[in-house]
Amino acid sequence: MAKNYVPVIGLEIHAQMSTKTKMFCRCDNDSFNVAPNTNVCPICMGFPGQLPVINDKAIENGVLSALALNCEIPETSIFARKNYFYPDLPKGFQISQYDEPLSVNGHMDINVNGKKKRIRITRLHLEDDAGKLVHVPGGSLCDYNRSGTPLMEVVTEPDISSPEEASIFAREIQKVMRYVGSSDCDMEKGMMRFDVNVSVMEEGSKKLGTKTEAKNLNSFRALEKCLDYEIKRQIEILEGGFKVVHETRGWDDVKEITVSQRSKEEAHDYRYFPEPDLPPVKVTKKDVEKLRKMLPELPSARYERFVGDYKMQEDDARILTSDVALSQYFEEVVSACNDPAKAVSYVNSVLMAFLNEDQIAIEECKVKAKMLGELIKKVINGEISNSVAKNEVFPEMYKTGKDSTEIIEEKGFKQVSDVSELEAVCKKVLEENPQSIEDFKNGKDRAFGFLVGQVMKETKGQGNPKMVNDILRKLISGV
Ligand code: ADP
Ligand code: ZN
Ligand code: MG
Repeated sequence: MAKNYVPVIGLEIHAQMSTKTKMFCRCDNDSFNVAPNTNVCPICMGFPGQLPVINDKAIENGVLSALALNCEIPETSIFARKNYFYPDLPKGFQISQYDEPLSVNGHMDINVNGKKKRIRITRLHLEDDAGKLVHVPGGSLCDYNRSGTPLMEVVTEPDISSPEEASIFAREIQKVMRYVGSSDCDMEKGMMRFDVNVSVMEEGSKKLGTKTEAKNLNSFRALEKCLDYEIKRQIEILEGGFKVVHETRGWDDVKEITVSQRSKEEAHDYRYFPEPDLPPVKVTKKDVEKLRKMLPELPSARYERFVGDYKMQEDDARILTSDVALSQYFEEVVSACNDPAKAVSYVNSVLMAFLNEDQIAIEECKVKAKMLGELIKKVINGEISNSVAKNEVFPEMYKTGKDSTEIIEEKGFKQVSDVSELEAVCKKVLEENPQSIEDFKNGKDRAFGFLVGQVMKETKGQGNPKMVNDILRKLISGV
C-alpha cells in the first residue's frame, strides 16, 4: 500500500517597498510607466567608486513591517554583499543582509478552515532589487529602473503544510504590508514575488525530506499550482524508490510544470562579506518602541473589533478587512450614518456588487464614504425608502458621482409620507384585493405582505413602509 506523505513548505517572500526613493540612492522609486533606464544614477547602475547611502525611510518601513510580524529587532544589523554575476545586476553583487538581519524570530497566525495556525517567521531582512531583463527577438535588453529598489524579504520556518496554507499565508502577508503601508504588494506590477521551498516526508516522521526550491513566482495561483505539482512530483519519485535531488527548479507558467534549473547554490557560493561602504544599521530599543507606537491597527485586530464592536457576521468582517482602504471606507460610512448594520449591508452587498462588476478598487469609486453615509442616513430618517436608496439613488450616485440630495431632488425620489395620499392608495389596493383581506383575517400573514407590496408598487417604492403598514392594518381592522 502506498505510504502517506505530508508536504513541508517554507516561503521566502519579496516585497518592494513603497518608499519615495531607492534603497541606497535618491532615484525615484516609482518607475511605473517610465521609459527604460531613466530612473537611474551611477549608484544604482553600479558604477565603480560610488558610495551608497542607506535610506532611513526604508529601515523604518522594514522595522514597522517586522514588528507587525511579531519579530524581534536586534540593535545592530549588517548589510552584506552577495556576489554573483547576472546582466540585470550591474554591481556584480546584491546588497542584502546575511548573518545579522534587521529582524528575527517572528510569527503570524493564519486561519485555515476556521482553525488558527501559527507560522513562525525566521527573519525579515532588507536588500536591493536587481534590474529587469526584457527578452526580445535577437537578444535581451536591460532596464535598470528597478535596480536599487528597496526589498523586504520575509523568510518562514518550514511550518506550512499545504499549498492552500501557503496561499493563505502569502495573502495575509500582503494584507499586513498594505495595512502597515510599507508595500503596495501589487502582484501585477511584480511588487511581490515568492520563492517556495518544499519537501515531503512520511506521515509521523520527524526527519525533513530533501527540499527543492522554485524562485520568482509572481501570482498566488502560480504559488499554489507550483507547490501542487512539486509535491506530486516528489511523492512519485519517492514511491518509485528514488531520491529527490536538492536543486533549484523553474516554474513554467504555461505548461504548469517545474523544470530542473541548477543544483542548489550554497551560501558560500555567494562569498558573502559585510558591505564595506555601509555602516552597521543601528536601531535602538527606544527607536523600536517609538515605531511600535506608530503601528496602525493590523488586519487581525480590526477583524476582531468589527466582529466584537459592530456585531458583524464573520464573513462580513472578513470581506471588510480584506483590504485596508475598504476597511477605512467602511469606518467612515459608519461614522457618517451611525448605523453599523446598515453600513455593512450597503457596503458589502450594494457597493461591492458594483465594484466587482467593474473590477475597480474602492479608491476609484466616485461614491465617497461620507456620501454613502449620508444616503443611509436618509433611509434611517425616512426621507427615502430602503429600496429606492438601493435600486435608484445609489446606482445614480455610482454612475455620476453626484450626492444623494441632488439626485433625490432631480428625480423626485422623496418618500411619500403624506397620510391622505397613502390612505388613498391603500384603500384602492384593498378594494382590488378582497381575497387577500379574507386570507389575512384567516391568519395568513403572507397576504398582508402582498398588500404592502401592492401599495409600494403603486407608489413606485416611495411609500413610507412603516406608515403603509400602519394604515393598512387600521383600514383592515375597520373593514
Ligand atoms: P537554504 O540554505 O537551502 O537556502 P534555508 O535553511 O535557508 O535553506 O531555508 C530556506 C527556506 O526553506 C526557509 O523558508 C525554510 O523554512 C525552508 N526549508 C528548509 N528546509 C526545508 C525542508 N526540508 N522542506 C521544506 N522547506 C524547507
Ligand atoms: Zn539611483
Ligand atoms: Mg537560505
